[in-house]
Parts: sequence; structure tokens; C-alpha cells
Amino acid sequence: LAQLFRPLDLLGMVYRMIRQGIIDMDAMFSLVDRAPEIVDAPDAPPLAVDHGAIAFEGVTFGYDDDRTILDDVSFSVPAGSTLAIVGPSGSGKSTIARLLFRFYDPQAGRIAIDGQDIAGVRQASLRAAIGIVPQDTVLFNDTIGYNIAYGREGAGQDEVVAAAEGASIADFIALLPDGYDTQVGERGLKLSGGEKQRVAIARTLLKDPPIVVLDEATSALDSRTEAGILDTLDRVARRRTTITIAHRLSTIVDADAILVLDAGRIVERGSHRELLTANGLYAEMWQRQAQEREKGELVA
Ligand code: ADP
Ligand code: MG
Repeated sequence: LAQLFRPLDLLGMVYRMIRQGIIDMDAMFSLVDRAPEIVDAPDAPPLAVDHGAIAFEGVTFGYDDDRTILDDVSFSVPAGSTLAIVGPSGSGKSTIARLLFRFYDPQAGRIAIDGQDIAGVRQASLRAAIGIVPQDTVLFNDTIGYNIAYGREGAGQDEVVAAAEGASIADFIALLPDGYDTQVGERGLKLSGGEKQRVAIARTLLKDPPIVVLDEATSALDSRTEAGILDTLDRVARRRTTITIAHRLSTIVDADAILVLDAGRIVERGSHRELLTANGLYAEMWQRQAQEREKGELVA
């Protein structure tokens, strides 16, 4: 980790960055098996975010040399719009999110936010611009208030409460024995999957980033919990540039655009209607999930 930081950085700042920038992200993306190797250029400027438009331009990437995971992937997400990415498990969807965070650099092509190559800006500023709601939210063994406030350093209690309200978890917290000071996590109150999701959403609301990534954010939930959370996530996505990685297609029919990824290549793109008409992989996935819904195997 040492190489991530310039020697001038103070120890406390290093510690904070490890906690905020690295370890939490690792947990979010289950990347603990691999240490980040990306280093800022000494004179890298901060990302100047205007509205958070995203562009992937001919991005080719593999975790190691012998296997290409993303093959010449190009797409753009206009500021404020929602792009959904769907595709079979292992097709490279989460890898796109990891590259956007610059956990890795592509072997070819570039990724830009508001026209700036993310490889040329300070990583802390890049990550400050992006909020993520992951599939499995990791809570700190601390208070529920801390777990929300962690979204933005220095947030006041009123802002924490507002974020909790936005994530529809404020009423739940109000009923806890110690309210926002209630200990959660392994050594405290165990929260359900849906409650943890709401903590992650509150964190993201507090962070208020221009860009939001939802990586199969509701796939671990039962359908009733999911319906409530999807509603809240809609609110998070509004006015923000959003990439939503979805397993259940029923959750993304309203996306501005949908990319269908298969073995690291974009095989289809369009709106839900257009993709059904195209009668390709998306339509096939849609029909299969519709059948599963009928049989009650997949609830959504
Ligand atoms: P998806 O999110 O679409 O299910 P991922 O982007 O997570 O797929 O993974 C795409 C492929 O990359 C998979 O074959 C996966 O095994 C591989 N992969 C993911 N992370 C790593 C890693 N850290 N090192 C090597 N291979 C990885
Ligand atoms: Mg994934």
C-alpha cells in the first residue's frame, strides 16, 4: 500500500485514505485478494466534475495477460442519464465498475469523466465523485450513525438524519434503543440485508456524488424488500449520472439505455423496447426470466 501515497502525506491522512479509499472499496468489490497498484502522477490535478458524463472509449482489459475480460468496450453515459448493464455472470459487468473507480488501468482505450481521462487525475478526487451501492454492504463495527456519516467526512448530525430519511431508514433508527448511537455490525445489532442496503444508500445520499454505480444492488433481497429499495434507488439515481448493473431485467426496463455484455463484448445496446424487438440475447434473457417469474423461482 505504501506506494500509493506520496511520502509527504501525513500518517493520519494515509490512514484515512486507506479506510475511505481502499479498504472499503476492496470490501465492496471483493477485491481483497489483490492490492491496488495504481499510483497518482505527482502533478495529477483533481478531477473537475461538471455534470459527470462518462465515456468508455475502446476499453480493453484483462486482470492478467493471458485472458481478455473486456474487449474493445465503448459507450457513453450522458450526464444525468441512467445506463443499465446486463449480461451473464462473469461477462465483465463489475469489471467496468472497477475500471471506472480506477482500481485498474485498461490495457487499451481510455475512460473519461466530463472529458478528462481518469488515468490523469488524482484518485481521491475521482473516488469522491462516484458513489456506489454494492451488492453486499459491509458495515463497520461502530454506531449506525457512524456508518452513515462515513459517506462524507465532517457531516453534521442533521445531514446524517436527512440522509437516513432519504434512504427510508430514519424511522427504523428512531426505534432503536440508542438511536443513531446504536452499535451495529458483528459486535452489535445485526441488520438485515435490506437494512444494510439502506445504510449504503444513506451513505451515498450523504456523499451526494454526481455519479452513482449500483452493482446488482438488490439481487440479494427478497422481492418485497427489493420493491421498496428500488423506489429509494430511483430517487438516488435522479439528477445523477447512473450506471446500474442488474441481474433482474425487470428492475431496469426504464433505463435510458441498456448495454448487453457477453464474454467481455457489447453484443447489444438500446432501450428495453428496442432490445425486445431485436430478439437477441436480451430478449432471450427477458423471456427466460419471465418464465422463472411465472414459476415463482425468481421473484421480481
Ligand atoms: P460480472 O460482474 O459480469 O459477473 P466480473 O466483471 O466480476 O463479471 O468478472 C468478469 C471475469 O473476470 C470473470 O471471469 C471473473 O472470474 C474474472 N475476474 C474478476 N475479478 C478478477 C480478479 N481480481 N482477478 C482475475 N480475474 C478476475
Ligand atoms: Mg458482478
